[in-house]
Amino acid sequence: MHIEESVKLDFKDVLIRPKRSTLTSRLEVDIRREFIFHHSRKTYRGIPIIASNMDSTGTMEMARALAAHHLSVALHKHYSVDELEQFFLSLGNGVAATSSAFYSMGISASDYEKFTAVMARLNNAIEYVCIDVANGYTEGFINFVKKVRKAFPHLTIMAGNVVTGDITEELILAGADIVKVGIGPGSVCTTRKMTGVGYPQLSAVIECADAAHGLGGQICADGGCVVPGDLAKAFGGGADFIMLGGMLAGHDECAGDVVERDGKKFKRFYGMSSRAAMEKYAGGVAEYRAAEGKEVLVEYRGPVVNTLQEILGGVRSACTYVGAHKLKELTKRTTFIRVTQQLNESFG
Ligand code: 5GP
Repeated sequence: MHIEESVKLDFKDVLIRPKRSTLTSRLEVDIRREFIFHHSRKTYRGIPIIASNMDSTGTMEMARALAAHHLSVALHKHYSVDELEQFFLSLGNGVAATSSAFYSMGISASDYEKFTAVMARLNNAIEYVCIDVANGYTEGFINFVKKVRKAFPHLTIMAGNVVTGDITEELILAGADIVKVGIGPGSVCTTRKMTGVGYPQLSAVIECADAAHGLGGQICADGGCVVPGDLAKAFGGGADFIMLGGMLAGHDECAGDVVERDGKKFKRFYGMSSRAAMEKYAGGVAEYRAAEGKEVLVEYRGPVVNTLQEILGGVRSACTYVGAHKLKELTKRTTFIRVTQQLNESFG
């Protein structure tokens, strides 16, 4: 039995060391980024934060709200061909032109058929696609990425999820522009509990970013961000994009109704592999598998724009503490220190 002895870290295990800075205000910080993707050769400009393609956060309403602030959404997989056609047409008309909305799909034959149908209706106008499965380590997954790349050379492909450098390289060589990183860190994910499999998210981000950047690719850190400081740490560790579920849940733009419990308002939020999701889409949990996600009630938080200000304010402030004028510089200016306690919990 070989045990890897080097310690792997989560966001809570580190802080970012402050550095001398010439910045006087967070207003001076530019948190937009520009990338030219390795395969598609398309240019991206925006704030590289993406709402997760979960039922509740990956909505068209969220896409419009975030686009107004230059952030993106990965749409969930359950919209109809007609709805998707209408939505992507509206992007073309400039309604949300600053957004890079991702079309999401799994790797089944019907996922591919649906995608090609939508693409055919839109004259191949969709620019970004997110191909994701719980376990990105299968040959079938890599082959699917190759197939999509071959059929759509100009598409920007995000693919995942994985947590190690070797497979990150393999995915980029197979045709992915952005590799999505994270197995088990999600707020409503129970993979680590149910399977014992996972990888501390900050180390996964650092290692996969290093592998991807070596080949000219990008990564998206997916899952595990709980507070704005976690985004600063993910970007500082080398993430080019960050995907958020739980931090964007509970808002007006999320799917689902507001429910009341003991006079307080909540919204339902559940993992895409939870019993709730499988009952909704697959008629229940299949006999041979267990749910790997849970359902929670998130306090209702009104429009997403307020939360957005807080998240972006935190990231901008992190940049001023280390003297990064641009988000791009944050990773070069980041030194992590390992800590045993991150927060003062006196008042919760
Ligand atoms: P969060 O930002 O809430 O911490 O993490 C969001 C991410 O959790 C999603 O983008 C997705 O990768 C992951 N996720 C969503 N639902 C499930 C689930 O049911 N099981 C697992 N293992 N991961 C999930």
